[in-house]
Amino acid sequence: MTTDTAAAPAPLPLLVLGHGTDLHTERGVECPGDLPAASDPDLVARARAAKAALGDSVFVLGHHYQRDEVIEFADVTGDSFKLARDAAARPDAPYIVFCGVHFMAESADILTSAEQTVILPDLAAGCSMADMAAIAQVEDCWEQLEAAGVAGRTVPVTYMNSSAAIKAFTGRHGGTICTSSNARTALDWAFEQVGGLEGDGKVLFLPDQHLGRNTAVRELGLTLDDCVVWDPHRPGGGLTAQQLADARMILWRGHCSVHGRFSVEAVETARREIPGVKVIVHPECRYEVVERADEVGSTEKIIQTIAAAPDGTSWVVGTELNLVRRLAAQFPKQRIAFLEKNVCYCSTMNRIDLPHLVWALESLVEGRVVNPIRVDPQVAADARSALDRMLALPGTTAKKD
Ligand code: SF4
Repeated sequence: MTTDTAAAPAPLPLLVLGHGTDLHTERGVECPGDLPAASDPDLVARARAAKAALGDSVFVLGHHYQRDEVIEFADVTGDSFKLARDAAARPDAPYIVFCGVHFMAESADILTSAEQTVILPDLAAGCSMADMAAIAQVEDCWEQLEAAGVAGRTVPVTYMNSSAAIKAFTGRHGGTICTSSNARTALDWAFEQVGGLEGDGKVLFLPDQHLGRNTAVRELGLTLDDCVVWDPHRPGGGLTAQQLADARMILWRGHCSVHGRFSVEAVETARREIPGVKVIVHPECRYEVVERADEVGSTEKIIQTIAAAPDGTSWVVGTELNLVRRLAAQFPKQRIAFLEKNVCYCSTMNRIDLPHLVWALESLVEGRVVNPIRVDPQVAADARSALDRMLALPGTTAKKD
């Protein structure tokens, strides 16, 4: 006897957070120095079929640092804030599949309607920088600023790369969110709230110390001495009362585990080995590295700068490896190299692979929503107030970050 029923699809090689123990089913969780191997190409057909079956009911967002195999299925690409706004601009799509990391999916949930569901294909796709500022630590810091008598003249400014809880803290304390594109505008606004740059007001900058320092010193004209670093693991942040009183920028001790690794030596090596090379880096890089670069900018600015450069120019790029590889493929008439041989890709971003995307899409086809990201309504409302302050900053609404 024969049967003509279609064969069941092969099981997907993925480890759902909290289930199973076989770490070898996951890729992109180590840092071997090169990109992880591509997933099974047979999954491409499954992803295409699932996306076609879902039609306009699903909108897939792909962050610039995602793998090629995932970007291929993105309806739009961009940085975290652009993607959140793109999601908000598609209220007709009930499902938003966010190929990025957890804080980005939270921001998309905050900015989209209650009728829309944001899905993160792998809940283990977090961000080491966002994880460096826990809400209890930040609340404790603020209490200590109050006790030191400086909270009343301090405004929190929080980078997009932070949890919804930290964004909500920022909203409750009259602060704003910023991106790597508008950090200068956000700092200008914040200092205006506390008497301007000439006064003694302060900014508590969360959670990336490098973006805060680079912007304050290189763009606002503050000095390195105006900046202090609050270490949440030390009593009093590791600062004396005098240091707090004198500071203009209180920088949270956080950093990006990818951009924080680019080194001065790598910049010098590139200049020695590649005649006429231009060095372009992201402002999450350390101050010493940014100081030695020719250009500094957000991922969007890096893409635009290289796209606008004349043929035959040489670039070394200090940002995530997936994006740099794609730029090199997209602009073959330029010589584009990765800044640091020993830097890995963003391993948490890379947890979103084709098996996870296929799982999320096929589940939707079957009527199941996996990994929905739902921010507590009060947290979302407070975070939204901080995001709205950012959207009201000059030039922010119209600009693509
Ligand atoms: S590249 Fe850095 S900031 Fe971006 S998600 Fe990865 S760890 Fe976080």
